[in-house]
Amino acid sequence: MHDMKSVAHNIYIHVPFCMSKCNYCAFFSHACASPNWDTYAENICKEIVYWGDRLGHCDVPTVFFGGGTPSLMPVGTFDTIMRTIRKNFKLMPDAEITLESNPGTLDAARLSSFVDSGVNRLSIGVQSLDDKKLQFLGRRHSVRDALKLIETALQKNIRVSGDFIYGLPHETPDDVIRTCNQINTLGITHCSMYELTIESDTPFGKMNLEMPDNDTMAQMYIAIGDTLKLARYEVSNYATVGHECVHNQNIWDGMPYVGIGNGAAGRVYVDNQWYEQRGNNAQFEKISADTRAVEILITSMRTVRGCELTDATKNAIDMDWVQQNPELIKIQDNRIVATKSGMLILDDIMINLIK
Ligand code: SF4
Repeated sequence: MHDMKSVAHNIYIHVPFCMSKCNYCAFFSHACASPNWDTYAENICKEIVYWGDRLGHCDVPTVFFGGGTPSLMPVGTFDTIMRTIRKNFKLMPDAEITLESNPGTLDAARLSSFVDSGVNRLSIGVQSLDDKKLQFLGRRHSVRDALKLIETALQKNIRVSGDFIYGLPHETPDDVIRTCNQINTLGITHCSMYELTIESDTPFGKMNLEMPDNDTMAQMYIAIGDTLKLARYEVSNYATVGHECVHNQNIWDGMPYVGIGNGAAGRVYVDNQWYEQRGNNAQFEKISADTRAVEILITSMRTVRGCELTDATKNAIDMDWVQQNPELIKIQDNRIVATKSGMLILDDIMINLIK
């Protein structure tokens, strides 16, 4: 039996600062023009040292800086954090290191410095290719800013992804098709397409917006899959083959990860036991293998490769229901996978699939 302490973990670092709050945002982030980056880095590094020790200085295949707006960080802060990771874990030589960014926060010189310090994947919050919609969403940048950052990033020879939001009030499937056709010309090899959801605790939540109905949303979802040249590999994610986000794919597949920073959560695996872990302190709670299997089932079924059939996941699945619904779900290569029509009603499938 190998030493479970040294099982590889992905690392998520949360950067909870933004220039201002967007109208739809329910993420853990605060509007803060000049955060105290030294204090931030100090706290993050303390957690990295703690978890490096606790997880036996394990291998790290991916590091993901999410937010908030990580691209607001001074490069020195990023560099300090990366050096601490390298010192306290075994960062794999081909590790994917992603920085989430917003247009208007990174010029060519700063992006070069981030790349020199290790960033090899930039995720850009484009959100819309229409200035009026950007304004409505409460974004600070213009389409021009976004296109400029995409161009700059592509010149650096790193992987580039764009985040987009669809399903705005009065938006039609034709609007979404137009956006997808534009995305096809941008040269990016990955994008995330998120349906606008209205959360009560946001400016949009208080505005009584007239949203597209469910049928229109479903038409948009289908149109995205049909129009984008990038292939859907998860409900909201599209990529050229081989350019999928390794970090997210690992987590959806059920690999352990540690969440660092206020607002981050992880699932760590120590001595044959899963734990729920919160970044801001050293406390963690046990999770049973059955509970973890259900979590893995829920995230991996959202991907086109589906869920691996292990003893734990088999225990969580109603196999009789699977056998009875071949048009919705199939088993291939020891994995359980939703069919194309199954993907459209995934939430309903999950209710029946989980025992
Ligand atoms: S930039 Fe992102 S995290 Fe920050 S407020 Fe806007 S949506 Fe929220």
